[in-house]
Amino acid sequence: MQHLRRADEKVFRAVEDETGRQLGQLEMIASENFVSPAVREALGTVFTHKYAEGLPGRRYYGGCEFADQVEELARSRATRLFGADHANVQPHSGAQANMAAYFAFLEPGDTILGMNLSHGGHLTHGSPVNFSGRLFRVEAYGVREEDGRIDYDSVLEVARRCRPRLIMSGASAYPRALDFEAFGRIAAEVDAVHVVDLAHIAGLVAGGHHPSPVPHADVVTTTTHKTLRGPRGGLVLCRGEHARVIDRMVFPFIQGGPLMHVIASKAVALGEALAPAFGDYGARVIENARVLARTLRHRGVRLVSGGTDTHLILVDLRERELTGKDAEHALERAGITVNKNTVPGERRSPFVTSGLRIGTPALTTRGMGTEEMATIGGWIADILEQPGNEDRIARIRGRANELSSAYPLYAP
Ligand SMILES: *Cc1c(COP(=O)(O)O)cnc(C)c1O
Repeated sequence: MQHLRRADEKVFRAVEDETGRQLGQLEMIASENFVSPAVREALGTVFTHKYAEGLPGRRYYGGCEFADQVEELARSRATRLFGADHANVQPHSGAQANMAAYFAFLEPGDTILGMNLSHGGHLTHGSPVNFSGRLFRVEAYGVREEDGRIDYDSVLEVARRCRPRLIMSGASAYPRALDFEAFGRIAAEVDAVHVVDLAHIAGLVAGGHHPSPVPHADVVTTTTHKTLRGPRGGLVLCRGEHARVIDRMVFPFIQGGPLMHVIASKAVALGEALAPAFGDYGARVIENARVLARTLRHRGVRLVSGGTDTHLILVDLRERELTGKDAEHALERAGITVNKNTVPGERRSPFVTSGLRIGTPALTTRGMGTEEMATIGGWIADILEQPGNEDRIARIRGRANELSSAYPLYAP
């Protein structure tokens, strides 16, 4: 980065500081990950200069020969990885991918059925502060109070009552495996389109550790930067019959020119996900999450649904005075980065919350295993027990920094 250092000292310093932060703390935000040097290198290439509106072989600009090549690579790797008929790799983000899926099938005012945000759904699944809640009529399903799991009978009941045009399955904070087949059956029964938002678990599906939604969905949207371990961005997979409408919705309906440097990077990440080692990675992510869950449970920490089948756990603080916000803050000072999260039956505001979402994808990428998870789980329990104990926080911070430094971001 010698150019950046010379040209813009302030930005350079922020990058250096961020690098230090990422190196020194334990990254346990469930939606974050660390990409490979190759994925990151592709992001910094000359493809950022290129306008390539349209699709490979059908562009609105000249000079797209090599842009076509990388986009074709990304598309074919995506369809091969997930066994889908068609892929559009241009969405700038997961939110754009969802927007494209909605507009492919819906008119404003149509009804969508999505997961309750405080039960683990995503803003783009119908929140009033998001375009989805403004443009569509929103109905929600949630999880059972007793066991924190989706009750598919009640999803069917709600669907029969509200007759949605589209059912959205997939979540941001649901620790259990999702039954996409059941969602597909429910959608078929009420004659709704079934869209699966795979953002969080795409990498687990790609690695063969979670049942695939592809046979049960009209459209599957995802981010590329969470468990899939690619650059920040979105991706849409769909049945052949929906290919044209999905492509037209991504461009020209909601986006302009694609980010070709990001698409080049997506191609690299999808290539990595096709390699057998990626399946091993997914297995370790889940194993690590299970050990973390077990460690916390043994220390008396309540978890939504009592555990996990995926890369994340959801700590339930409803019976404690400690809020999600304060817990997040105490853990951050102890060198452990997580995020506060609403939990089912939430009574506090989304800025305060009664929960914590903790994920293992990033630390697993850095090479940590079950032994480290047991250690870190112990530290998290220590902090939740006494969030105001500054000596304890300082001591754990030192040990967290040490542990983190023992697993460098990139091998030298
Ligand atoms: C993260 C996420 C998104 C949004 O992705 P962005 O790239 O941040 O727009 C959409 N849906 C779900 C379920 C997510 O978890």
